Formats: sequence, C-alpha cells, structure tokens
Amino acid sequence: MVREFGNLVGGKVLPAAGGAWLDSVNPSTGEAWARVPRSGAVDAEAAVEAARSAFPGWAALPPARRAMYLKAVARVVAEHAAELAEIEARDNGRIIRDVAGGDLPGVAYMWDAFAGECDAAVRGMSTQVGPTTVGLTRREPYGVVLGIIPWNAPLPTLTAKAGAALAAGNTAVIKPAEQASASSLRFAELVADVLPPGVLNIVAGLGEEVGDPLVRHAGIDRISLTGSTATGQVVTRASADHLKPLALELGGKSPNIVFADADLDAAAVGATTTAVFTGNAGQVCYAGTRILVEHSVFDDFVERMRAAVAGVVLGDALDPATTMGPIVSAEQFARVAGYLDGAAGEGAEAVFGGRRGAALFPDGSPYADGYFVEPTLLRVPDNTLRVCREEIFGPVAVVMPFADEDDAVRIANDTGYGLAAGVWTQSLARAHRMSAALHAGFVWVNTYRRLGGGLPFAGIGDSGYGHDSVLENTREKSVMIELLG
Ligand code: NAD
Repeated sequence: MVREFGNLVGGKVLPAAGGAWLDSVNPSTGEAWARVPRSGAVDAEAAVEAARSAFPGWAALPPARRAMYLKAVARVVAEHAAELAEIEARDNGRIIRDVAGGDLPGVAYMWDAFAGECDAAVRGMSTQVGPTTVGLTRREPYGVVLGIIPWNAPLPTLTAKAGAALAAGNTAVIKPAEQASASSLRFAELVADVLPPGVLNIVAGLGEEVGDPLVRHAGIDRISLTGSTATGQVVTRASADHLKPLALELGGKSPNIVFADADLDAAAVGATTTAVFTGNAGQVCYAGTRILVEHSVFDDFVERMRAAVAGVVLGDALDPATTMGPIVSAEQFARVAGYLDGAAGEGAEAVFGGRRGAALFPDGSPYADGYFVEPTLLRVPDNTLRVCREEIFGPVAVVMPFADEDDAVRIANDTGYGLAAGVWTQSLARAHRMSAALHAGFVWVNTYRRLGGGLPFAGIGDSGYGHDSVLENTREKSVMIELLG
C-alpha cells in the first residue's frame, strides 16, 4: 500500500491545499512507495502566516523554556530513530547502517545541542564607551527563517536549519526536496504536538511551485539554502526584492591530494570509500571527486585504490550488509550515466567501474530496476575534462598525477568551487602550507569527511557562503545609553 504524508502547517498535518501529490520512489527498486503533498503558493502563504503568527510568542519565551521544547524534539527523535531511519533508507537510498548508526543519533544529539545554545543565542556584549556612557549589543532573531534542503541528507540538514533557527528565537518554514521528503514529513507528524503550533512548518513540493513563492514572500526574513550552485543563483535573484540575508551551502568538486610521503594505505581508503563511494554513493557535497596523486607513486596508488573498493557491497539501502546504495532518482541516475557515457570521448579511461542498472544484478533481481551505479574511477589526462569540472553527484571520481606541491595547488584550485579539500602527507610543514594555499572552506589532512568539534562548514566561491549556526540566525543591534542625572 502506498503511504501518504502531509505537510505541517500551524501545528496541523495537512495535504496540499490543491489536493495534488508527488510520488516518492524507493531508489533501490524503482517503485513508488509513498506520496507527498505537491504544495503550491497557497500552502506557502499558509506556512508563512503560521510562522509569523507564532513568532512573537516564541521569541518572547525565556531561552530556557525554548530549550525545553528543543530537548523534547530530541527525545521524540531518539524514541522513533529506528522508524525514521527505515523511512530514510527506503525513500532516499541512504544506507541503513549510516542512517541508523549515524544520521539519527546525530539528529537527536543536534536538537539537544541546539537546546544548549538557546542562552548563547541572545548573549550580547557591553562596553563602557565613556564615564557616563554605556554601549551594548542585543542579539535578536530575524523573524521567520526559510530552510530549503536537498535530498542527500534530509534529516541532518533539516535539523541544522530548523534547530539553529528555533534556538535563536526565530520560527521556521522548511521546504524539503521533492525526491526525498518522507522522513522530513514523518518528523513533522512526530513534532506536531511537541512544539507550539506554527513554530516549525514543513511544506513539500517542487522548487518552482512552492520553493519560489516562499523565497519571494515578504514574510520571510532570512533564507538558508543547501542545494546546487544553479539553485543558489536562482534563489539569490528571487530574494533580491526584499534584500533577504542568505546562507548558501552549495555544490563542490573537491580535490583530494595524495603526496608520495603519505600513509598510502590509509590514503587509498580515505580517497575512495570514505571520500566518494560508500555511504551516499557519492551524493555528498564535499565528496573528494578529484583525486590528485604525486607522479612517483601514481601507479602504485591506483592499485591500492582498486583494492580499497574491492569490498564494497552494492545493494538495497535497507539491507544492513549494504555498504553502497543507489542514486536517489531516475533523473539523477540518467545524469550520472550521461557523464559516464561522455567521459571516454573526452579522453578519460576507466580504471574500474562504469557498470550500472540491470548490468549489475542477475536476471529477475528486484534491484535491476533500481538506480545503481558501481564505484567508478576515471583516469584523466588533465583537469580540463567535463568530468573534472562539473559536479556529477554520484559514485564517480577522476584521478590524475601531479609533479610537485605547486602543481598540486594549481590543479586543486583550478575550479570555481571551494567547498572542501583533502591532503595526505606525513609532513607537518606541508600540511600547514597546503591548508593555507587551498581554495576551500574546509581542509582535511590525513582524514576526510569528518565533521564536528564545532568547526564551521561553509564554502567559498561557487560553493556559496554562510552556514547554519545559532549566531548566524541572529542579528546584532547596537544600543548607546547616556546615563543622565
Ligand atoms: P537542488 O539545488 O536541485 O535542490 C535543492 C532544494 O532547492 C530542493 O528542495 C529544491 O526543491 C529547491 N529548489 C529548487 N529550485 C528552487 C527555486 N527556484 N526556489 C526555491 N527552491 C528551489 O539540489 P539537490 O539536487 O536537491 O541536491 C544536490 C545539491 O546540493 C548538490 O549540488 C550538492 O553539492 C548540494 N549540497 C550542498 C551541501 C553543502 O553543505 N554545501 C550539502 C548537501 C548538498
């Protein structure tokens, strides 16, 4: 039976006002398993109105009271973690071992952590400007924050946006991605009675149909988008009339640079399964999809990478044995296939991989209609090919040699993107030089893909700017007081 999920607007779970639905497809099998509201301008209006009505009350709550609500959300997530993980794996193709073992505990932790930041969100500074003059800053919420999220990690991204916004005293409207809205909408059902009505609203649908009216709405005070660079540009233009502050977490084409002095076995795993292939089948904004290898160890390193991917288990995202799942949708699968089909003509040579779809499974397998692509490594002559320049968003990486440190920096920075970079070396001095020289918002040395420790994650260049911290969800007001009499 096809399951139905509703929007969350003003504390109520509702279908789209126009009664339209979008099918949600299980990418492991290609079957529609659920439907989600195909919302439009009327739903956008209702969500903004609900968030605006709820804002004064939510903003006026003492921070400790807001924190209690966010802690209650964390508890609900923890109680329903297994169910939410299963929905995510079925709907999105993120593998169950990652969603159950990583995403969901992380999401519960994040709601708790945001609860702990409610006090800090309103903490300003004060200064003695003169003997009788006091200056101070107030940190105030913006009002209604719009969070637009992509399909590749729905619940963590929803939490980063909604949790930070609510902790700072804003109310929020979230627009999940049309390819994978089910987990966000099940989360919406679970928190409908936990948060005061209108504090968090979630409306599903297509970007142009419900995202665009939200972006243009005068009642939205700040926008945080995680998505592609092209959508970032569209949203920037559409939001210009009201000069809305934006945070744009966009795409990438991140270099992962392996020097001859590195621990090559660790680097081979770090450059392949960790950085690109497993987990989300390369559908990760900071995937290290351009692997640069010092020429003296090039052939040796390519063989080590081949060995590192040999154990990858491609299969149903719901199977705990699976280490790499499918691509999220038929459309994205076709896009990845298009890059693979064009690569040879441009001079790329497959080191391994390249097979996809039915070719990967025996006749009659339920997964033959799923959107699977095997881990694929393309050897390229230089950085000019389309597969080196455009974000593919699938399990596809390129590998190319470099001569020395300067050459590595030149190739690595030869991109408009600037999201992340990896460096593998045993030299501390080189680690620091490279970290300074690379055009990226986040640099990993001798590791890849690890986040945490409170380190900000924000891109530069075509990868956007800003992120979802609690402080970025507040604005500062300065006050100067003369103590008369
Ligand atoms: P996308 O840009 O197609 O869509 C992202 C969201 O924007 C979706 O909810 C979509 O419906 C919405 N949208 C599209 N057009 C819109 C419009 N005109 N107005 C308002 N909303 C609109 O991206 P995607 O394919 O869902 O996700 C993949 C992209 O996201 C990749 O480029 C990836 O690198 C990027 N991403 C970046 C980060 C980061 O932190 N930098 C994290 C994850 C994903």
